[in-house]
Amino acid sequence: MLGQYLSGRHSDICGCVGSNIVLLTQAFQKRFIIPDFINFASSIDQLYYNAQTLQEGKVSDYIPQLAKFNPDLWGVSLCTVDGQRHSVGDTQVPFCLQSCVKPLEYALAINELGTEHVHKYVGKEPSGLKFNKLSLNEDDKPHNPMVNAGAIVISSLLKVRRQLALSHRFQSEKETGNRNFAIGYYLKEKKCFPSGADMIAALDFYFQLCSIEVTCQSGSVMAATLANGGICPITGERVLSAEAVRNTLSLMHSCGMYDFSGQFAFHVGLPAKSGVSGAVLLVVPNIMGVMCWSPPLDRVGNSMRGIHFCQELVSVFNFHNYDNLRHFAKKLDPRRQAGHERNKAVIELMFAAYSGDVSALRRFALSAVDMELRDYDFRSALHVTAAEGHLEAVKFLTGTCRVNPHVKDRWGNTPLDDAMQFGHENVVEVLKEYQRIYSHTLMPQEISSQAHALDAEDLRNMETLEGFV
Ligand code: GLU
Repeated sequence: MLGQYLSGRHSDICGCVGSNIVLLTQAFQKRFIIPDFINFASSIDQLYYNAQTLQEGKVSDYIPQLAKFNPDLWGVSLCTVDGQRHSVGDTQVPFCLQSCVKPLEYALAINELGTEHVHKYVGKEPSGLKFNKLSLNEDDKPHNPMVNAGAIVISSLLKVRRQLALSHRFQSEKETGNRNFAIGYYLKEKKCFPSGADMIAALDFYFQLCSIEVTCQSGSVMAATLANGGICPITGERVLSAEAVRNTLSLMHSCGMYDFSGQFAFHVGLPAKSGVSGAVLLVVPNIMGVMCWSPPLDRVGNSMRGIHFCQELVSVFNFHNYDNLRHFAKKLDPRRQAGHERNKAVIELMFAAYSGDVSALRRFALSAVDMELRDYDFRSALHVTAAEGHLEAVKFLTGTCRVNPHVKDRWGNTPLDDAMQFGHENVVEVLKEYQRIYSHTLMPQEISSQAHALDAEDLRNMETLEGFV
């Protein structure tokens, strides 16, 4: 692609580079949030093909426009917060957002009217009931913005200036929307609308919103905007306030997946919203947005393949909100590791070693800091503790952390050399003995894996000693 730019005329190059300068700079510096994007994309393809084999589920037919879809349709698109994109399958076929519009509608309302005002009319709790139930909470408000009653009230709050096209799909939605009309009248009876609101107009607007067409590709950019705190990663434009995005993601997390919301929060641990068209809008906060689409639905109305894909995604990558990013080595972390974090760890480790601060060293070991990190003189924490004569710290680094004692600094000295040079006899003894055991008990290939692995007993002792660190 770059070759094409370079072989083009100078003005073409400037044209291309000009609008994409941030993207190109990041590409050259390998500073994307997912640096190895090619590998990541091929894992996504694999998950896509795994889900494709699922043949169960039923295409929704209560709205005629939905019934026409082929059950084999299946697409996944993703867009990262820094604009890298990948698509696989039927990602250019238009489909209606249906309930996936609810988080977007809610986010717009918060953006325009603020949290306090919007939540005068709608709650924040999961309902535990079907999305189109005629039901209100104890305060006679819709349970939350992700169920129909909530979304209908919110559409009455939004001051609609734009005239949305009265499309075919919208008619289809309206003609089969008896339940939503019933909800509308119920809401009116219970005085859920703001004063002066026109219930029928609110319903019309709700139907129009549900009928908005997207593709997986465009939907993934919407999801990525939510992942990126409200700034569209493609245009760089702030579309939603950070507050609107945070509220929206919180409610998607607890209420976004119909009667599967609790289980989805448990197993997948990410904010998502599904719609009866078979769409699943998934957000991995601060990393990427995903739009999955496949019309066959499970019993509660979620896309069969969409759910399968989301579950597999978090079983491979540590994207679940409560995955521990440091200790859970079984999953892959495709995120960029910031270079400054390593530098910070080296400095903190060296200071702890210099002052013989054993409890700080324990804390680092428990946080899976590589205890063999070296500074710019190639000196390790063991060099520093040995040179300073901190016996307890030396014992901890050797006995518990089992760091390599043979490493040499830029002057060719090992930790033992340092201890001898500065006359710390007791440290010399410990290191000599350790060097002997170390070369006998650990094979070279084991060294790196054992270097900062603490055995279960060490961990238990440390935790008892220090409580949770
Ligand atoms: N148009 C749908 C309705 O209100 C939206 C349903 C959905 O996707 O959950 O009935």
